[in-house]
Amino acid sequence: MIPTKPHAALLASPGLGHLIPMVELANRLVTHHGFHVTIFVVTMEPTASNNPNNNLLPKQPYRSPTLYNLVVLPYVDSSAQMSPTDKIMTRLAIMMRGYVPSLQAELGSMEHNPTLLVVDLFGTEFLSLADEFDMVKYVYIPSNAWFLAMTICVPLLDKQVKHVGPLNIPGCKRVEYDDILDPVFDPENKDYDEYVRIALDLGTADGVLVNTWKQLESKTLFSLKNNKILREIFNKRVYPVGPLVRPVRPECLGGELLEWLDDQPKESVLYVSFGSGGTLSSQQTTELAWGLEMSQQRFIWVLRPPIEHDGAGALFHAMDGQDQIVSQYLPRGFLTRTHNLGKVIPMWAPQTEVLAHKSIGGFLSHCGWNSTLESLVNGVPIIAWPLYAEQNMNAALVEEELGVSIRPKLLFMRGFEFKEYEMLELIL
Ligand code: UDP
Repeated sequence: MIPTKPHAALLASPGLGHLIPMVELANRLVTHHGFHVTIFVVTMEPTASNNPNNNLLPKQPYRSPTLYNLVVLPYVDSSAQMSPTDKIMTRLAIMMRGYVPSLQAELGSMEHNPTLLVVDLFGTEFLSLADEFDMVKYVYIPSNAWFLAMTICVPLLDKQVKHVGPLNIPGCKRVEYDDILDPVFDPENKDYDEYVRIALDLGTADGVLVNTWKQLESKTLFSLKNNKILREIFNKRVYPVGPLVRPVRPECLGGELLEWLDDQPKESVLYVSFGSGGTLSSQQTTELAWGLEMSQQRFIWVLRPPIEHDGAGALFHAMDGQDQIVSQYLPRGFLTRTHNLGKVIPMWAPQTEVLAHKSIGGFLSHCGWNSTLESLVNGVPIIAWPLYAEQNMNAALVEEELGVSIRPKLLFMRGFEFKEYEMLELIL
């Protein structure tokens, strides 16, 4: 039978923060644009059935399980290519590189040839496959246009000059020193080279999709289209396709958590979560616990095991059954003392459903872009606690441009240490 629908191949890099927006893009292509879609997924572990990230895969918990095909690429072990000092961008880039032959083989064996390839920021090295298979090729940035504008400017920076001030982006809000991505500060680190490579790869795509929309970022989107200097740096078309967020599925929020939320006053509960990869250290976990308890603020806290010196730790660590025992990470007696005040949820909560509940009045968030959008569409103000990647920029955007967030300044000054609970007590 001759297929009647165009076929799109989407590639999601590891981490739910990358998979979720890709799935939502697939849903959009299928339901609004009549595409047949296959999503290829890269995983970080050989068998990761105990990882909540992977629990989402087989269930396809979206509008219809038949909406798109989902192919988990067979695990490729790239650990031999990594060194223990490699940071997040390098690790993801090395991991992804190992999967190029797998996707090549998959595309080569497909009966209904895809004519469109969409990759995310960590998949730009797959764009050459589109040429091989005669496909049009797009990069989907599951973040905002301001981040895209900064990224395309990074290759122009002088590697030899140490950055000490803000970054000026033609026609856009400047990026303050404290908000600039870590790789930009350390040209000696491999992350810098990977980031520059990704930025240059973007120019080889036919266009870029961004999870934003005109009303949210009109100035930046205008400049990406019209600013002469920016156009000279990057002349591809940018499509604001957002907000693409996970739909609320009421059946996902039930049991004790729903009953408890139903019993709380309207907009009284602070939801505390650091996304799928965000991780606090032991000291930060303790400080946060004290902050919540001393503020006497109602809360729901999605707690995962602390990992030292790696704000993105959960991205790279499998989570097993014993992580469900949350009390071991908390000050002694915390759960008993806060029994009536809040709920500690181990590892993973139905976030979109929680944020949509009428009792939620605030979100203490790491400002991953998906979390930020989910908060925005539900009208929930944010207390920002960015941890890694472009989260400082996201936090700056929602605070300074939209005025729907507060960002306790002291927390985020590079190299500054203090007791977080003191700050939390002040703002809660
Ligand atoms: N998420 C969730 N439950 C959790 C933690 C995260 O459903 O306990 C979802 C959240 O709703 C969002 C995604 O995971 O859609 C996290 O993406 P984000 O960009 O906010 O952060 P990242 O995980 O990339 O750091």
